[in-house]
Amino acid sequence: MHKKLFIPGPVDVREDVLLKMATPQIGHRSKAASALQKGISDKLKKVFQTENTIILSTSSGSGLMEAAIRSCTRKRAAVFSVGAFGDRWYKMAKSNGVPADKFSSVPGQPTTVAMVDEALATGKYDVITVTHNETSAGIMNPVAEIGELLKSKYPEVLFLVDTVSSMGGTDIKVDAWGIDVCITSTQKCLGLPAGMAICSVTERSIEAARQVENRGLYFDLVELYEYVKNKNDQYPSTPSLSHMFALDYQLDRILAEGIENRFARHIEMANYVRDWARKYFAIFVEDEKYLSNTLTTIKNTRGISVSDLNKQLAERGYEISNGYGDLKDVTFRISHMADYTLDEVKELIRNINEILGL
Ligand SMILES: *Cc1c(COP(=O)(O)O)cnc(C)c1O
Repeated sequence: MHKKLFIPGPVDVREDVLLKMATPQIGHRSKAASALQKGISDKLKKVFQTENTIILSTSSGSGLMEAAIRSCTRKRAAVFSVGAFGDRWYKMAKSNGVPADKFSSVPGQPTTVAMVDEALATGKYDVITVTHNETSAGIMNPVAEIGELLKSKYPEVLFLVDTVSSMGGTDIKVDAWGIDVCITSTQKCLGLPAGMAICSVTERSIEAARQVENRGLYFDLVELYEYVKNKNDQYPSTPSLSHMFALDYQLDRILAEGIENRFARHIEMANYVRDWARKYFAIFVEDEKYLSNTLTTIKNTRGISVSDLNKQLAERGYEISNGYGDLKDVTFRISHMADYTLDEVKELIRNINEILGL
């Protein structure tokens, strides 16, 4: 039976979008492939709110996260972590031999401007990485404010941001916020199958990368950039054309909805889940200001068995997510991202209430 996935990725993909994956293949060095890439890139610029170059990578989002920290760090990276995905960025740096330090927040607390300021005041770092929307904690970090700090005090520091679980679901102004490399994946708020990563890059981040000697090959940002910029909007190796067909189509749907409307719909769904969570449980992130608009991490204050709930939900055609890592069973997560509607979220919650007798 088809289960609607209210997990924070992969999410349910609309059938017409899914069917676009079955488009007959074209040669990846053809004019048609260049036109496809160019079209996708123009549309993504509207979603990313950027004039920067858009790069696709046939990998999940992690591929471009690794690419970014490895390619852009000349001196040392300051990695700010508020959970599992911030920690992963630090592991990527370490395993690639990229000098990095990790600055963790207390669980449930954001990366603050003060933390970034304190780290950068040391003068040790030329790159910072921030998780915009931490999918384990359900927290959204103040990326705009951190961007302001960089512009005013540390203009030479590169700003790398993980927007894997938020791009396309909430307002992210890449250019206005001064983000140098902004990374996302297809299987979260963009509502596509997993398998393609997307990033925007500034010229200066590529200039910085040129000074780094060992950038690897498949995930070398300079190589990817050169192909897109100077080799007819193509890629060094064969991209997943199936994803590109579906992405091109889905971006038309997203832009037809209008990004402002799309963001408003996400907030509407978020508010509904938050109100329910507050009534029967509690929300993991205490400060309202930092709540994620694309998923809610709920404190399991009733001590329910999340796996039993999911078993019963499965019989009704739904799936939610347990907590991530250390937060398993003490929290659970409901995503409200991509193409879901408020009515679908209400149906999910109605089913949970019935199962739990709430
Ligand atoms: C899912 C996720 C990732 C990992 O993305 P993949 O596409 O699975 O590689 C990284 N960061 C955040 C915040 C995520 O939610």
